Amino acid sequence: MTVRLDVEELLRAGYGDRTIARQLGVNIGSVTRARTLLRLPKVRGGLKPAGSLEDFYWRRTRPVGGGHIEWTGPRNTKGVPIIHWQRTSHSALRIAYKIRAGHEPIGYAHVTCTHPGCIAPNCVADSAVTPRKGHHRLGPGVKPLTSREEIVRLLTAGHSDRYICLRRGVNSARVARIRAELGLPATQMPQPLSFETRWTASTEPADGGHTRWVGTVRGGRPVIRVDGRRISARRAAFERLHGRLAVGSVQPGCGWEPCVRPDHLEDRPMRDQLNTQLTAIFGEIAA
Ligand SMILES: [Zn+2]
Ligand SMILES: [Zn+2]
Repeated sequence: MTVRLDVEELLRAGYGDRTIARQLGVNIGSVTRARTLLRLPKVRGGLKPAGSLEDFYWRRTRPVGGGHIEWTGPRNTKGVPIIHWQRTSHSALRIAYKIRAGHEPIGYAHVTCTHPGCIAPNCVADSAVTPRKGHHRLGPGVKPLTSREEIVRLLTAGHSDRYICLRRGVNSARVARIRAELGLPATQMPQPLSFETRWTASTEPADGGHTRWVGTVRGGRPVIRVDGRRISARRAAFERLHGRLAVGSVQPGCGWEPCVRPDHLEDRPMRDQLNTQLTAIFGEIAA
């Protein structure tokens, strides 16, 4: 199992399981399990949660001399140091710049020193003020990224995040961040369907008390949309029913291969336990 980056970040920042579950809208059992996997001690109530993005920034940095400060927190797939805060990813570089300048950079925040992994506020500059040296963001022929100014213009014109993402090919987290910075309220969007609604719409009863999947299938497996991502429907249903993360593959244990009924599903520990019981009853032959 992999630990969600935002869960890990809050765990390492010293929050309790319940707080993290509430903040991220995830199951508390999955947070506790992630804590165990990361070998993090239980919170004793001593450490105060970070009160601001700046607090978070300082908690995830380490001064290394020469005025440089290294980032010890997570990075996104592009290597940008990030902070997960209130359901949004923030660039730690932009926060470093804000600490230095007292305001957000107009362009992109970039590191000016050569110390590997440095994120010291004094080593971070605004590309709109200090051009990035020899930096080629995209190769020739690739459409340039939509500028911050353009996103600001579209947001203030009242367009939704979704509209801007789709029309301009912009990352939704970037639009959300700029909206938050501008203090603009979110445009009214239809509420996402609940898990239960999606589940009911994607399943139907089958003979013998089983449940058949009639929803979306990817790679031969039922998938369901949760928090904007398509995940295994069996795994999602299993984890909701048992309140813990599934270990290994989740398969129907009822003998009907297509079944998705939550209480007919088993993960590896359940199968192992059953095998042990069968061995105890019938001896090695049954196993
Ligand atoms: Zn530096
Ligand atoms: Zn079944």
